[in-house]
Amino acid sequence: MSKLNIVLFGPPGAGKGTQSAFLIQRYGLVHLSTGDLLRGEIKEETELGIAAKELMDRGDLVPDHIVIGMIRNKIEAHLDAQGFIFDGFPRTQAQAEALDEMLNAKSEPIVAMLALEVPEEELVKRLLGRGETSGRTDDSNESIIRNRIREYEKKTAPLRGYYQAQGKFKGIDGVGSLADITDRLVKAIG
Ligand code: AMP
Repeated sequence: MSKLNIVLFGPPGAGKGTQSAFLIQRYGLVHLSTGDLLRGEIKEETELGIAAKELMDRGDLVPDHIVIGMIRNKIEAHLDAQGFIFDGFPRTQAQAEALDEMLNAKSEPIVAMLALEVPEEELVKRLLGRGETSGRTDDSNESIIRNRIREYEKKTAPLRGYYQAQGKFKGIDGVGSLADITDRLVKAIG
């Protein structure tokens, strides 16, 4: 059977991490979040983590080669997976192209790009709320949050077009109850 490789797309605070948790359970997928992987490196105080922290704390993207390398290692470490949910990756055109190369080489392409759509003011509200408990520097203040959203608009949002051209883009209303949003995602996966 072909693998269910999905890109869960959307701005910071759209609910990608939360919804991934439901989808990995339902479909038996492996969750690959570059944000989580980077925070793991920071916690372990690796060289990579130390270099990434400064950029992440400002809300800037870390360089493509770093996240592409991390994703490559994880894909190779889970060759028996039923599929992957890519959460927070790809975030640039170069990352999207690298991901396609890796997956196409295995004849296991991305089957869908599910884009959670949430208005900016709701994103800011959610992230400030999360910041009260997440301990994440990048959730702690509004100007960093707005910088993350700007980075998304500038570098990441154009990937809609990249996946649209492949016929894989599906927009999902990301406002509502958690269960309703999960239902919309499940319907889109089909
Ligand atoms: P996230 O947990 O997805 O919100 O990511 C938190 C931060 O990690 C981002 O603001 C970036 O600084 C960095 N990051 C995560 N994923 C990527 C990626 N694919 N490309 C570049 N930077 C990333």
